[in-house]
Amino acid sequence: MRGLTCGACTPAKMADRIGLSSCGYHSGHGSPAKRRHEQAPSGGISLRRGQPVRRGLKRNGEDVKVPSARCRECPLADQPFVPGNGPARTDLVVVGQAPGDQEVRQGKPFVGPAGKALRRVLDSLGVDHLSKVFFTNTVLCHPGKNEGTSRDEKPPRAAIAACRERLRREIEETGPGWILAVGAVAGASVTGKRVVLSRSRCSLLGHPLRPDGISGYDAVVGITHHPSAPLPKLLLDADIRALLSFPHGGRTPDVYREDRGVSTDH
Ligand code: SF4
Repeated sequence: MRGLTCGACTPAKMADRIGLSSCGYHSGHGSPAKRRHEQAPSGGISLRRGQPVRRGLKRNGEDVKVPSARCRECPLADQPFVPGNGPARTDLVVVGQAPGDQEVRQGKPFVGPAGKALRRVLDSLGVDHLSKVFFTNTVLCHPGKNEGTSRDEKPPRAAIAACRERLRREIEETGPGWILAVGAVAGASVTGKRVVLSRSRCSLLGHPLRPDGISGYDAVVGITHHPSAPLPKLLLDADIRALLSFPHGGRTPDVYREDRGVSTDH
């Protein structure tokens, strides 16, 4: 495996353990993402006809500037882009993996089937997901499809790295005391730790982020499974309840709808 790898690769054994391919490009043999990887040297800049091609992010043919994102080094720069969405300041930020088809069509994160499932759980808990929660993703561009399936690719490691400072900045600017990371990719990007969902689900509650996470930003982090995973909704419900009941700075989050009269100390 080493002979085929780029600078973004990790040993195949570790990649197997964390449920990723060895560098994220390799998920799905013969897939478009794999072919992109085989064209990509260290640093994630694709080579075409032996020449480095530096691309920026474009939308409808126009250059898009995403603060703190290194789009010119990112293998997803030519993919559809979906920005984070929500209030400018919030107590709760939800971080997913990457936008899917529906998100691309509507230009908003967490509006596809999995996002709707998560929003339904938030709603059932009395969380005002329409006006009090900021939703974003580990990478802001669609990673493409696994060939022959309707499943989205996992974002390449080079894209996660290129988009990480943007995520840190987005979190810093919105200022949450609580962060819900949805799925292993988001959990690893937020915390800077290897995440195995069966072990890490909710296990980071109460720990400030490590310096190798999003620059040591201090928040309570809950990691839960992706809403599209074949797991009971009850687990998702329990994880979110546990996160939102954990105090930060001596208080619980102000994200509940007044009309529901839901107590913040579940
Ligand atoms: S995923 Fe992030 S870094 Fe990559 S092109 Fe999109 S916005 Fe830029």
